[in-house]
Amino acid sequence: MDKCCNCGKNNVFLEGLCKKCYNEKNPLVVSFKPVKILVCFGCKKYFLKGKWTGFRKIEEMAKKVLQDRIIFNEKADISSFKIQTIIPKHSIGQNVKVDFKAILTVFGVYKGKSNSIKEEYEMKSRIIYILCPRCSKFKSGYFEGILQLRDVDQDVIDYALEKLKQSEKRGIFLSKKKKVKNGLDLYLTKKGYIHELGQELLKKFGGEKKASRKLFSRNKQTSRDIYRINVLFRQSKFRKGDIISIDGEPFKVSDITSRIKIKSLKTGNISSFFLKDIHAKNSEEVKETVVSSVFPELKIINPYTFQAEKPANYKDKNFKIGEKIKVVVVNEKIWIV
Ligand SMILES: [Zn+2]
Ligand SMILES: [Zn+2]
Repeated sequence: MDKCCNCGKNNVFLEGLCKKCYNEKNPLVVSFKPVKILVCFGCKKYFLKGKWTGFRKIEEMAKKVLQDRIIFNEKADISSFKIQTIIPKHSIGQNVKVDFKAILTVFGVYKGKSNSIKEEYEMKSRIIYILCPRCSKFKSGYFEGILQLRDVDQDVIDYALEKLKQSEKRGIFLSKKKKVKNGLDLYLTKKGYIHELGQELLKKFGGEKKASRKLFSRNKQTSRDIYRINVLFRQSKFRKGDIISIDGEPFKVSDITSRIKIKSLKTGNISSFFLKDIHAKNSEEVKETVVSSVFPELKIINPYTFQAEKPANYKDKNFKIGEKIKVVVVNEKIWIV
């Protein structure tokens, strides 16, 4: 009986080698290259064979890419193989790299033999997030419309910019930011999102929102006009805590979103209106002054005339002479805020 020319054991399997030695020299998988999968964090497409293609499940997509990289041994018939991917949970963004493991299990039979062999491999792989050319084009100058912020606080700008940072993951980009008189223009790559963000600002900060569209060009293939849209958000001129006067009576703004809640300084009652229904001018100037007497009645110094006057409203509180308090003067009457 022939002996294995590698280890000297009996039972030659193929090419003068025992089964174990033959298998060691002729694995079912000849090679697999380390895989780098490029994924666009803008549109969630991946790069395969020169094309950016969409995918549903990242694990499935990874399997597809990996399986393309495996070179099987031609001396064997591969009966089946499977790839199991374990991709850790991760957040995505520019140049984020995610290393993951894939287990490849292969079943095969050497030519002329009948016994099936099972082998297992660990494939090290990596996903790299970048922007595909289309999304980078969006990032560099393309826009579908402008969100125009006018008369807004820094809070509003910060909020909008933070939202736009998050929107990149959805493939929506801020392609240009332009300071203009009374505000800021944000050039965005997705029409629908301009409305969405404008609406969100309206709800959160209160004010008015107007949309308009401008003819931009005509698509020659479809003969359809292409519009760009402008959504203008103007923050309410009132802020929480402001005092406004309606028909000569002062109210404190207690909340402002899509509706405004105001509290009467006279009665303490709270009422709620749509902003557009409030016809107050600018908010009243709140001044600090002092209590000048408490007995027999409460008197405070009018900050404009410096006369001691009885306030138009009464607060259920014991004041002290010389105590500093905040007031507004509406219709020559002094109101404690
Ligand atoms: Zn051997
Ligand atoms: Zn993309």
